[in-house]
Amino acid sequence: MLYYWPHTYPDEILYSVIARYLKISGSRGPKHLLNNLFDRKTISATLDLPSGLKDLIHNLEMFDKDVEMILADNTLFPYYQPFLTPTKAGKVRHSMLNKSGDIHTLIGINAGIFPAGKSPKYCPMCVKEDKSENISPYLRRTHQIPSIQICTQHNIYLLELNKSRVNFNKHEFLFLEDHLDQFSLIEQNESTEYLNICKDIEKLLKGKQNPFDADDPFFYRKELFKHGLVKNANQLSTQGLYENFTDLYNDTLLAKFKSSVNLDNPSCWLKGIFRKHRKGFDPCRHVIIDNFLKYLETKNESLEVIEIENIKYPCLNKVCEHYNQSIQTTFSRHIDHKSKRQITLVECNCGHKYTHSYITSKQNYFTRIKEYGPVWHSKLNQLLVEKKMSIRAIARMLGCDSKTINKFKSIKVVGDSTPKTELKEKQEIWQQHIRKNPKSGITELRKKMPALFAFLYRNCKEWLQKQQYHKSKPNSKLRINWKARDLEILEELKIARSNALKENPKKRITKSLLLIMVKKEKMFYNNQEKLKNCEEYLSKTHESKYFHRKKRLVLSALEMKDEKAEISYWTLLRKAGIRKEYLNYELIQIAKGIVNGTFELSRQAFIKTA
Ligand SMILES: [Zn+2]
Ligand SMILES: [Zn+2]
Repeated sequence: MLYYWPHTYPDEILYSVIARYLKISGSRGPKHLLNNLFDRKTISATLDLPSGLKDLIHNLEMFDKDVEMILADNTLFPYYQPFLTPTKAGKVRHSMLNKSGDIHTLIGINAGIFPAGKSPKYCPMCVKEDKSENISPYLRRTHQIPSIQICTQHNIYLLELNKSRVNFNKHEFLFLEDHLDQFSLIEQNESTEYLNICKDIEKLLKGKQNPFDADDPFFYRKELFKHGLVKNANQLSTQGLYENFTDLYNDTLLAKFKSSVNLDNPSCWLKGIFRKHRKGFDPCRHVIIDNFLKYLETKNESLEVIEIENIKYPCLNKVCEHYNQSIQTTFSRHIDHKSKRQITLVECNCGHKYTHSYITSKQNYFTRIKEYGPVWHSKLNQLLVEKKMSIRAIARMLGCDSKTINKFKSIKVVGDSTPKTELKEKQEIWQQHIRKNPKSGITELRKKMPALFAFLYRNCKEWLQKQQYHKSKPNSKLRINWKARDLEILEELKIARSNALKENPKKRITKSLLLIMVKKEKMFYNNQEKLKNCEEYLSKTHESKYFHRKKRLVLSALEMKDEKAEISYWTLLRKAGIRKEYLNYELIQIAKGIVNGTFELSRQAFIKTA
């Protein structure tokens, strides 16, 4: 049983809390104390992702945080979590709470660009400030992010604790004040870009949602496609990618994140992350890419529509009475982000639409018909029915090529002039086709006789749909992976709960509150039976109104104690906001017990364990 526990300072890493505890109670040797804390002698002094947290929390009865809060506030778990698949995140969480598996290998830290096992880092200015506020200097969590070398508050380089040591004892928790480097000089960071990226990386710890989708191996490629850097055949435009990337980031900056790029190197990480990111990349690289994608977006947005005054666009419909005149045309302009060209869309009231744009590389205007419009089509139909002119002559008259006429002919005229018997014949062939292939669905049948299908689709779509087809089982790939979804939402719920408790510990935590916070209310109730883990978590953490009254009583009493206010029966009830009509025997006993000091005040007892 422990009788002393130091509280956590803002942004303090758990390692530092333990180091201070050992320092203060330290006479009996660290191993014994560690055993006290973790129930295990072999636990190592892990800085970033410690394990065995459940034992630790269990042993800390006075502790004002539950294990979820520790995980979210005092470890580097939130730094890695957004880039792990929900399954992997679940495994890491499990390893951290219990003691199983090698977390660093699991995440890929050991094989990554910033391997673990480095000495803790600190900012000499932060230490100075702590001292001036009479606080025992402590290790900040943000300073332990492996990819960051500066304190973003003071914009100076961090120092390593006890750098002179060759070997780092993995069972030792170093107490900051005992290992300050007295001789190091303070080095200012000169690069604003570096500072800004470091600040972005730090935001991960505060649970900033990154749009990244760990379950989609082509997430970044899709993003790149939007900016025209993936060619038609799904081919990455590496040249364009590297040009844009190095426009934004210079090598000095990238080198600070061990992320220099080289177009000629086939295994350069920049190619890899856009190819398939299953491999796992350091979180700092994800932030660098996210920032890069935002840059591409603003770069494209900065192209502005140039209004050209006094230009009139003619109607290009040869059979329109306003052909080559601009009396009935209107136009609008926009930027096409893929081609980065300004496009003008011109529309005549005859329904004819075309786009007009300037191609700089060819120094030429380019026109494309978007819609021929009803006036044009009715003229075409009339000419086709009359059958007096050749296709070529019709094309010439309507101002298009023969191909276009043939295309419309096969669609339109067939419907009107196909003899009923022909249609019937074809329908019978299709029905035979269905009978001969009883196991085939409509898609398979269509693939076997595409021309027949196309004919029927044009002429009798409804009839075609009404036929009885074999229903194939839904494609298993399209089915939602509910197990993963369940764990994913569970993660979100845990974070939401931890945030809610942090914001206002007296708040009533309910099932619907958490669901609303993660914006999954409707989705959850529609699929409740598939989300077993969430369901269980929600019901275990749900606080009844009665439970909440008890919690308010105890937390209010603790607040009053902190404020050194005198606690009387009625002031306590008022502070807790409990109305007379809700008082029952138990509540009265608790309130009286608090006032006369016989009721043991424990915050922990009112944080439900899930
Ligand atoms: Zn600092
Ligand atoms: Zn017109």
